[in-house]
Amino acid sequence: MIIEPKVKGFICTTAHPLGCAENVSRQIQYVKEHSKIAGPKNVLVIGCSTGYGLSSRITAAFGCQASTLGIMFEKPATEKRTATPGWYNTAALESMASAEGLYARTINNDAFAPNVKQEAIDIIRKDLGQVDMVIYSIAAPRRTAPDGVTYHSTLKTTSESYTNKSWNLVDDTIYQVTINPASEEEVLATQKVMGGEDWKDWITALSSAGVLAPGALTIAYSYIGPEVTHPIYFNGTIGMAKRHLHKTAEEITKEFQETGIQAYVSVNKALVTQASSAIPIVPLYIALLYKVMKAKGLHEGCIEQMQRMFQEKIFGNDGIILDNNRLIRMDDYEMSLDVQEEVKRNWDIVCSDNLKELGDTTGYWDDFYNMFGFYLENIDYSQDVPMM
Ligand code: NAD
Repeated sequence: MIIEPKVKGFICTTAHPLGCAENVSRQIQYVKEHSKIAGPKNVLVIGCSTGYGLSSRITAAFGCQASTLGIMFEKPATEKRTATPGWYNTAALESMASAEGLYARTINNDAFAPNVKQEAIDIIRKDLGQVDMVIYSIAAPRRTAPDGVTYHSTLKTTSESYTNKSWNLVDDTIYQVTINPASEEEVLATQKVMGGEDWKDWITALSSAGVLAPGALTIAYSYIGPEVTHPIYFNGTIGMAKRHLHKTAEEITKEFQETGIQAYVSVNKALVTQASSAIPIVPLYIALLYKVMKAKGLHEGCIEQMQRMFQEKIFGNDGIILDNNRLIRMDDYEMSLDVQEEVKRNWDIVCSDNLKELGDTTGYWDDFYNMFGFYLENIDYSQDVPMM
């Protein structure tokens, strides 16, 4: 079948298997061009198939030679539909890992479910013995908690309505968007989905089953960002969930003191992923940010971020490098004063007429299409390919 992109708003409903494999291969190549990292040996990556989780897995496998077990929630192809990009990414990753004698196995099921945690425990016990690192990189719209209640996350403010500029991805115009405040129930539900509860459930389950090595490291991902996005992000419903995640890192470390399990949160850079494209205001900020960071030679994608995190901020000579709030700051370049001052200046004047000049809209769309395996220059898209 000839597979073409079908974009609806911020989502692409098709994915290209060869393009997705190419993305994985490029990320592996990037990691191999850097020196080996004296890191973990057996890694569990929860949310392993796209974005930050995929890049973490690739760094662990190809940078540290670690065996990896991944958890993802992806759809395989049907007769009518292509698989999701994460499904193709993972098929490619498993085959590329296996070609180098690296163990890489994946569970495609709901990470929030207790039976999936049990399945992971059984696999770890049988194949790996114990894991010494757990990456938690889930971005999900809903979670059914162990009590059977399904919670939905929302992207709203938590105090008053917030109006600001946003980029209409359909017609490339700037318009004013108003985001309404969430109810208390919505704030709590978002915390249930994107906060630290499930992360802690994982660590508790793994530890109780004896499959978490003493002194194991666990890292979850967060975002803080600049003031202009705070009402919708860091002070919004998702930010409240992230604050809960930050608190959970301290809780885990304290509660598992005896086994020496260390839990941290890494605050990563704003990047185009399936999760971030869905947040209003954020895509415009990303387009402006990319422009400034690329001009300064500071731009990074998921793999550059994760390779640097492993090599410099976690497993470097100085051990784990934290800020005063116990956070790993991979957003250090993004949040540097000169970058933020320039982005802010451009934010104040950006409009439909100068969007393409001030914002890296091409870079944004390249990342967006590439994420689904499209528009990669060395792939022949006229080729008839099996959807698998
Ligand atoms: P993503 O959408 O690319 O990846 C999400 C992953 O979670 C996928 O592997 C998906 O299969 C998996 N997943 C979703 N629901 C699942 C479920 N129920 N069970 C099992 N797996 C499930 O997202 P991302 O942008 O890489 O985000 C990962 C983390 O990084 C999130 O915590 C996010 O907040 C954080 N983060 C993202 C950005 C950004 O700009 N994209 C910046 C900083 C931090």
